[in-house]
Amino acid sequence: MVGIVVVTHSAVLGQGLRELAEQMTQGRVPLAVAGGIDDPDHPIGTDPVRVMTAIEEVQQGDGVLVLMDLGSALMSAETALDLLPPEVASQVRLSAAPLVEGLMAAAVLASTGADLGAVAEEAQSALAAKRELLGAAAPAAPAMPSAHPEGARDSTVPSSAMPAGEELTLVVPNRLGLHARPAARIVTALGPFAADVQLVRGDRVVSARSVNRIATLAVRGGETVTFRAVGGDAALALRAIEALAAAHFGDAPEAPSKGEAPSPAEAPKDGDMAEAAVSADVQGGGVLRGAAASPGLTVGNAVWYRPAFDAPDVAPLADDPATEVTRLDAALGAARTELVELERRTVAAAGRKEAEIFAMHRLLLDDVTIAGAARQRIMDRREAAESAWYEVISDAAATFRQLPEGYMREREADMVDVGARVLRLLTGVAAVGPRLGGPSVLLATDLGPSDMATLDPSLVIGIVTVQGGATSHAAILARSLGIPAVAGLGPALQGVGEGDIVALDGGTGDVWVNPAPGVRAAVEARRDAWLAGREAALAGAAAPAVTADGRAVHILANIGSSADAGAALKNGAEGVGLFRTEFLFLDRTSPPGEEEQLTAYVTAAAAMQGRPVVVRTLDIGGDKPVSYLEGFATGEDNPFLGLRGIRFCLERKPLFMTQLRALLRAAAVHPLKVMFPMVAHPGELAAAKALLDEARATLDAEGMPHGQLDVGIMIEVPAAVALADQLARDAAFFSIGTNDLAQYVMAADRGNASVAALSDALHPAVLRMVRDTVRAGHAAGIPVAICGELGGNPEAIPLLVGLELDELSMNGPAIPRAKEVVRGCDTGTCAVLADRAMALPDAAAVRRLLQGGS
Ligand code: PEP
Ligand code: MG
Repeated sequence: MVGIVVVTHSAVLGQGLRELAEQMTQGRVPLAVAGGIDDPDHPIGTDPVRVMTAIEEVQQGDGVLVLMDLGSALMSAETALDLLPPEVASQVRLSAAPLVEGLMAAAVLASTGADLGAVAEEAQSALAAKRELLGAAAPAAPAMPSAHPEGARDSTVPSSAMPAGEELTLVVPNRLGLHARPAARIVTALGPFAADVQLVRGDRVVSARSVNRIATLAVRGGETVTFRAVGGDAALALRAIEALAAAHFGDAPEAPSKGEAPSPAEAPKDGDMAEAAVSADVQGGGVLRGAAASPGLTVGNAVWYRPAFDAPDVAPLADDPATEVTRLDAALGAARTELVELERRTVAAAGRKEAEIFAMHRLLLDDVTIAGAARQRIMDRREAAESAWYEVISDAAATFRQLPEGYMREREADMVDVGARVLRLLTGVAAVGPRLGGPSVLLATDLGPSDMATLDPSLVIGIVTVQGGATSHAAILARSLGIPAVAGLGPALQGVGEGDIVALDGGTGDVWVNPAPGVRAAVEARRDAWLAGREAALAGAAAPAVTADGRAVHILANIGSSADAGAALKNGAEGVGLFRTEFLFLDRTSPPGEEEQLTAYVTAAAAMQGRPVVVRTLDIGGDKPVSYLEGFATGEDNPFLGLRGIRFCLERKPLFMTQLRALLRAAAVHPLKVMFPMVAHPGELAAAKALLDEARATLDAEGMPHGQLDVGIMIEVPAAVALADQLARDAAFFSIGTNDLAQYVMAADRGNASVAALSDALHPAVLRMVRDTVRAGHAAGIPVAICGELGGNPEAIPLLVGLELDELSMNGPAIPRAKEVVRGCDTGTCAVLADRAMALPDAAAVRRLLQGGS
């Protein structure tokens, strides 16, 4: 919990404040007072050593907020920071908040477990309620020096009311002015400084630490503005702004003008000149290339999917404001984690510039004028977290809507995007899907699992996204729904408008915008052939897949929900080879309980009508962060090599036990098997099996019915391949996760487009690992499956038959074709093919071999 220190000239005053705060928080918050000095004759004053001791007394690891009364209190606090070890001092925040109101506000919020940033912000905005009660006649708070970076000032005030300070007046050099990205860069540049910095345009003054406030000023290129700073490092802060302005606030310098400069209303979103240039190319009808995310061809009208932001369907008022604040903070934290992850992936896949939008969204999320206002509404009006958040975002979006400048109004969309993300996390309700008037090609920045769940597969005939790659969840889900998709097209997609004709080939990653008639006709002809082939394959999907020389290869489905199970069955799945249970844990703020999980497993198994279902236990971490399960995703330098999969579950015993109990109970009704992800060595398998036994014992003790569970493991880590003979002794089956195995064998991040050629499961190095795993499994008499994406690749199937895999598990729509391919195989010929492939030097050579080359 955050600790609080009060620095005051009077010990008596300090004691009174302590009593007041303790009464409000029932003494739950660590609070120390450094009041007066050690001089019986002159007790009034402040003492740095006392401040230092007080900080040490309340420091519990979550940081300390220091509030002060007057004059030397600030100096004593600053000296105390110098006396403390740097690692402690770095966790101390000096607050410019009013002492009484600030202390009460901070103590109440700290008692809810809020973090230091939130507590500091709460203290800082503590006068707002009083100001509101006293009405408009009261002057805005004077701009006192702020000792913490979050010291965002209240909204616009007449510049005459501002105190004198350092000033920097400049002409905004970039043509598009202080739009969202420059605003975000200003806020970031000011981060290291304590000074209170404001931005003045005409008679309007706003905090220069708020992206939102800066953007509402709608400053255009060529206009003169003034930055005004007050505080110890004011001059330095202004120098940082000056340097930023000299660099055009991070925007690309203007290209030589070719003609009339566009008006702001015509300017590209975010003022990104590079995007504008790409957009022009896009509309030229040429081919664009993204990641081949889901096979198939399509041509149709483009419809942009932007998550709607509707009033939440919850009771607007709540009984317990503190709980609501905690809920809001949890959702904000979860949203932040999502954005960090999106940013990380986009940097890897498309570059830093493309990822900037997520950093900007994060700043909006952290903006005190947004989050602080929502907290204030909860505390002052007892509003539910959802309602408070919705109102604050709606107001902010409306402000942007009223601005005359077109490009500034684009910020409304960003505001709504951020707002919808947090609202979804608060309510646990997925966004409302796009309203489609007919078959359409859906365009989106990115599609999360919850967005995908809202799609109507009968109307979405294709998907193209700005972000993501072939193994992103959106891609996996598109494949399981049989929707052709191209992912990660980059900023070029932004130039495509509603109603443009988009043609795409999800097998190659090619996209055409408003294609020429000849191109369109060619794509349509190939689409018709693809659809006819799919129909023909579906006709024979129910029969087993047996090679021409009589060897059966079991074809199963990968699913993420019971809805997928139904589709898989229609496609001829002989069972489920991989049920990715992490989908049950995503897009929410707390894990599903035992009963909810039981229902999910029983429903999926029931949909398979007695066929076997392999359920993979929770596999999170790496590319699948779940924000409310702390301990990874934000804290690990290298999450792919961190607490992922089984490692995480073994650390989180209660969470794991809940899942194991639900699985054992579901097994009483349906034939289930369980498999553990990311197992690296026998100790982990033994530990997981011991917990399964323990879960069984708890059910026995409660007289709860449960069933048998065969226990298998995923082979995804090279160590597991090396020790496959040992692991096979204790596992009932192996299932090879080629997506991860490829990235770990090749040391190439599966989400990083620049190393995609390396993290390719067709690489001979990976194929040899598959061969070794099959050999070890068969020597021990257990079946070996592939459930990674390689298993569903029709080109690769002859190779996998040659490597003697017993089962292949894939997304449902891939099953009919896979069965056809197996039926055309001869095991002897396939074995030769496999040997030849493993002798080649790289994945490209293997692909050429499979495509009939040499
Ligand atoms: C794999 O790694 O191949 C696999 C099937 O697991 P996931 O893609 O869910 O990590
Ligand atoms: Mg995996």
